[in-house]
Amino acid sequence: MEKNQEFTVVIEDMSEDGAGVGKLDGYIWFIKDTVIGDVVRAKAMKMKKSYGFARLMEVLEPSGSRVEAACPVARRCGGCQLQSMSYEEQLQFKERKVLNNLMRIGRFGREEINMLPIMGMEHPWRYRNKAQFPFGRDKNGKIIAGFYAGRTHDIIENDDCLLGVEENQEILGIIKRFMEEQGVEPYDETGHKGLVRHALIRKGFKTGEIMVCLVINGRKLSGKNAGTGEERLVEMLRQVKGMTSISYSINTEQTNVIMGKEIVNLYGPGYIRDYIGDVQYQISPLSFYQVNPVQTEKLYKTALEYANLSGNETVWDLYCGIGTISLFLAQKAKQVYGVEIVPQAIEDARRNAAVNGMDHVEFFVGKAEEVLPQQYEKNQIHADVIVVDPPRKGCDTVCLDTILKMQPERVVYVSCDSATLARDLRYLADGGYEVEKVRCCDMFPGTVHCEVVVNMTYCGDKKK
Ligand code: SAH
Repeated sequence: MEKNQEFTVVIEDMSEDGAGVGKLDGYIWFIKDTVIGDVVRAKAMKMKKSYGFARLMEVLEPSGSRVEAACPVARRCGGCQLQSMSYEEQLQFKERKVLNNLMRIGRFGREEINMLPIMGMEHPWRYRNKAQFPFGRDKNGKIIAGFYAGRTHDIIENDDCLLGVEENQEILGIIKRFMEEQGVEPYDETGHKGLVRHALIRKGFKTGEIMVCLVINGRKLSGKNAGTGEERLVEMLRQVKGMTSISYSINTEQTNVIMGKEIVNLYGPGYIRDYIGDVQYQISPLSFYQVNPVQTEKLYKTALEYANLSGNETVWDLYCGIGTISLFLAQKAKQVYGVEIVPQAIEDARRNAAVNGMDHVEFFVGKAEEVLPQQYEKNQIHADVIVVDPPRKGCDTVCLDTILKMQPERVVYVSCDSATLARDLRYLADGGYEVEKVRCCDMFPGTVHCEVVVNMTYCGDKKK
């Protein structure tokens, strides 16, 4: 096979990152935007020794699980990898992926894994409460907002991502009108010129409160047309129903990091509010907050159920972020301790605990693998339940070793990467814990990502 040569192949499997997999004379092809069961014509793009990547040219016979992608820019954008797959099939794909990792990497037998049905969404669209749109100009010089095309920084115009809220379109329209009117330039990465880099838009789904934060390459939000840029922007954006907070963020660095560290408040209290269950959270432009609040509630309810609290327990929430899980657990625990490495997140966590009148929650800034052993060795702290929700790389071994020393009755593991989850569960299982329940939660429909919550109980020597 030569580069650019076309061929016909049947898609038999899916890779972890959502590409279809087909075989031709023992050679493996990865073809994005295809679905198991498709017969496709594809073009060879890049070839390695035993596998290659090809581009989908035409679907000759569609699979029964294929659907028309709802978004017109789905293929170019790359933000969603599974839009050609029916939602039901997406859910099965995610469950299979998690199960495979637990068996292959975690070396658990199928019979050892009690997998409860994946929690999917009733309406798997418009679920994101947060979006960050870059600004630029198109070939004709018109100001556009959209998304970066997969792996590049070319902006694909799209004011209405179907994963985001409907208000995004109205807000982006206003910002573009404001820029034209005031002569405010979009940022140009190549020359590090221009002003408006991104618009961050957030919405509290339960409160309807909306936040807009413009990220600018400068200290003032004014253009070349004489005028009062900031006041005008506020006047225009306030027309949007629910508008609660308007600000800008100063980012004059040549960097891919979107937000700058300094926020200038233009209108409102500087944050919006939202609820997960009955717990209220205040969210500022720089706060981390789960992007799919509907599914987050299901995930946290499951974590709380697995923690099986009666009201007398001491619970540790490691990798707690802004304390979302900690506060959720605090509804049913005697004492909760949260640990998180980012100091600003802990500030949010403490404020959110106060907002909810929860004084039995305490937060530590630091690494889980340092704070937990220190507290254990110095203060002989105890835990009935430990909840962990680490980043993709999973838990540090020192952290897992401390958990094994502390021997809480239950460990609840919330994970966004089932490969590192499988590795860590094996470590805990070898130390005397038994996996009781595994449940996936689809936080990111359309994409390959999947959250998993696992309940482990201590069996100690019983197991050996
Ligand atoms: N549980 C939170 C956030 C989970 S994301 C929620 O549901 O909202 C994982 C968090 O772990 C991030 O906030 C990240 O800053 C933090 N983190 C990363 N490495 C860490 C470490 N070694 N120790 C403690 N926290 C860490």
